[in-house]
Amino acid sequence: MRALVLTEYNNFEILEVPAPAVVPGDVLIAVQACGICGSDVHGMDGSTGRRQPPIIMGHEAAGIITKVGAGVTDWKTGDRVTFDSTVYCGECVYCKQGRVNLCENRRVLGVSCDDYRQHGAFAEFVSVPERILYRIPDGVPYEHAAMVEPVSVALHAVSHVKSAPDDCAVVIGAGMIGLLIVQALRVKCCGQIIAVDVDESRLALATQCGAHHTLNPARIDVPTAVRARSHGFGADAVFEAVGANDTVSAAIESTRKGGAVVLVGNVSPKVDLPLQRVVTQEIRLFGSCASAGEYPRCLELMARGEIKVDSLISAAASLEDGAEWFKRLHARERGLMKVILKPTI
Ligand SMILES: [Zn+2]
Ligand SMILES: [Zn+2]
Repeated sequence: MRALVLTEYNNFEILEVPAPAVVPGDVLIAVQACGICGSDVHGMDGSTGRRQPPIIMGHEAAGIITKVGAGVTDWKTGDRVTFDSTVYCGECVYCKQGRVNLCENRRVLGVSCDDYRQHGAFAEFVSVPERILYRIPDGVPYEHAAMVEPVSVALHAVSHVKSAPDDCAVVIGAGMIGLLIVQALRVKCCGQIIAVDVDESRLALATQCGAHHTLNPARIDVPTAVRARSHGFGADAVFEAVGANDTVSAAIESTRKGGAVVLVGNVSPKVDLPLQRVVTQEIRLFGSCASAGEYPRCLELMARGEIKVDSLISAAASLEDGAEWFKRLHARERGLMKVILKPTI
């Protein structure tokens, strides 16, 4: 099969490689669409150490089942499917609690690190265990289904806090995940959603996604502006989708007493914490990683048009053009959001 292989850091080649083996319990999927994730872009240059070459990356994918392994009963050839980016074991104490994102034996597709190498879906075929499969509803195209992973990250983030109709929520960082959190809050009927970003074009997208107000920290003090919009209290919940010193501080400073901060972004391994504020104001901090069981609900919301991913897809391209798109994403080209690679074109 053809595959886009990271042969060394910052270098891709289209190679002819053997199709993956279909072991018992697995299905073989002809990949129709696979999104380039930020983690792939950061992995390409070696900075995270989680894409050690050679590796076929790609974990946000959708396709058609072309072969089912021994023992697979619920799926057949021709089924349209998407799948979890995490191959969880289904056996460990966390999996048994349904917290599959915390699986003790988790492997992420398209990742190679010190512990394992698991080829992903920037290829004609990928093989995955049936337990991580989800059926794509009719009417949801493959490119949209390939976006279910980031959508699930957003739904999981908002699942940590209850939301009431008169609540004020702030989303810091209007990148892909931030924009999907805005939509997920909209679905939860959150009363007031404020999006924060330094990039005006992203703020415009946030408004399109359902944010009621936008704030640009380059021009305004965010905690002060949030308090002004929440009767002087601060936000009931703040979602931090960047993961840097200033943004984490702004998140905590913008939260009301007893409010919640959900930490999703993690570009920095460490940040300063306004400790006394967290302690004395009983601010609850939640870490939120990947998703745990949100896929079916996400696909349903996408099928109903309650979560829209159209405006977040910047381009669809062939595997051959993949290297070029990786370069453009790595250069942080303005206005670029999700790029989807399609091995069939
Ligand atoms: Zn991803
Ligand atoms: Zn497990």
